Amino acid sequence: MFQRLTAFLLCVLGGGIAGWWLEHDRGLAAGLIAGATGWFVVESVRAAKVLQWLRRGGPEPRVGGLWGEALDRIRRAIRQQERDGADARQRLDDFLAAIQSSPYGVILLDAYGRIEWCNETAAGQFRLDPVGDRMQNIANLVRDPSFAAYHQGRAYTQEVVVEGPGSTPLRPMKLSVHLHPYGEGRLLLLSRDITALEQAEVMRRDFVANVSHEIRTPLTVLTGFVETLQNIDLPPPERNRYLALMAQQAQRMQTLVSDLLTLSRLEGSPLPGSGEWTAAGLLASQCEQEARALSAVLGRDQQIAFGPAPAVELAGSAPELQSAMSNLVSNAVRYTPSGGTVDVRWRSLADGRIEFSVRDSGPGIAPEHIPRLTERFYRVDRSRSRETGGTGLGLAIVKHVLQRHGAELRIESTPGSGSTFSILLPASRVRPPPEPSREVEAGLKLPA
Ligand code: ADP
Repeated sequence: MFQRLTAFLLCVLGGGIAGWWLEHDRGLAAGLIAGATGWFVVESVRAAKVLQWLRRGGPEPRVGGLWGEALDRIRRAIRQQERDGADARQRLDDFLAAIQSSPYGVILLDAYGRIEWCNETAAGQFRLDPVGDRMQNIANLVRDPSFAAYHQGRAYTQEVVVEGPGSTPLRPMKLSVHLHPYGEGRLLLLSRDITALEQAEVMRRDFVANVSHEIRTPLTVLTGFVETLQNIDLPPPERNRYLALMAQQAQRMQTLVSDLLTLSRLEGSPLPGSGEWTAAGLLASQCEQEARALSAVLGRDQQIAFGPAPAVELAGSAPELQSAMSNLVSNAVRYTPSGGTVDVRWRSLADGRIEFSVRDSGPGIAPEHIPRLTERFYRVDRSRSRETGGTGLGLAIVKHVLQRHGAELRIESTPGSGSTFSILLPASRVRPPPEPSREVEAGLKLPA
């Protein structure tokens, strides 16, 4: 500022000196006025250049003086504004990107319930067009009556569950929707796909109902026998028969509880590693012993054949693999009547997998039942399952064990001519047995 004032004074003074030199006293006043006018004209030309640039844009004019300084300050203010604007835009983009990646559906509604913005999750859940449906009223697009009542009720403390668009009884879709008021009459709509949660809840309820039913039946029988024994003085043989039946029911409950515990252990424990190796032959011989013992207990006259086990080791949890194989073999024994056959075979496949298959000549299973056999408590023939001590959980356990080992269960069956249940173990879980060391070969040391 001091510089600008000095420049002005120098102009005026210069004019005054020139006037005085030319015309003395008269010339002094005229010279002062001429100096001031010259300064004013120069600054006006600079001002005109700056104003023109401000109006029309284009290349920045190169001006000095007062207007040059003003131009400099304007330029700095504009740059700062541009930087602030870019920062704000970047923040908004980051914010929108974060909301886009949210697993929640987000919709911003104006005071009239019109969609101002929605993320892609919400667009997918409600089948909205994020651009085309902008400023459409939400009530016209989400037509579930419970949502309409919730939206109009204006009591948004709790969320509401609505049917997703295109939901059918076979493929239900449930959305949880929560409205949150903000700003002046605006609403933030948050939505969550709870289809899987709802299905899990239905499964949980069914499971509890099934377990209760399975336990109630033997309990009712037991209570009946206890009352009879308490009230009637039965002769010893009759009494013993009742006690044997009671023991049978107690055993049934025990098996059920043990299968339930096995299932819950399988669900809760970490996946079996691939560092524990067991010889296939060891698993097979245990299965064979159990099968023959069960057949004898059931009083069946069956032909049970076990083919040779391959000389390989299998990786995984030995007790789990054992239980999966035993379940298949014991089902074959239980469902095959006297005179029938149970044939257990091993096969090495070309891709390195190992197949363990159990074939029986039992009643077979109709094709419509096969996809559901591994569901908990699913039985084709309830009475036959119970008669032979079945819990309806055996194949569910097999499925879990195989999933945990990356293995596959295959079921082939023809009603009237028997079934084949096969386990396919992946090549990564199969290895040849370790080479016996020289000392072992020479008989100096016992193998571990
Ligand atoms: P369960 O304890 O009732 O045998 P599982 O889960 O082991 O339960 O089997 C489910 C159902 O599959 C059985 O109830 C039975 O109807 C059918 N099933 C299983 N294995 C056989 C088989 N080898 N032959 C005929 N039906 C079978």
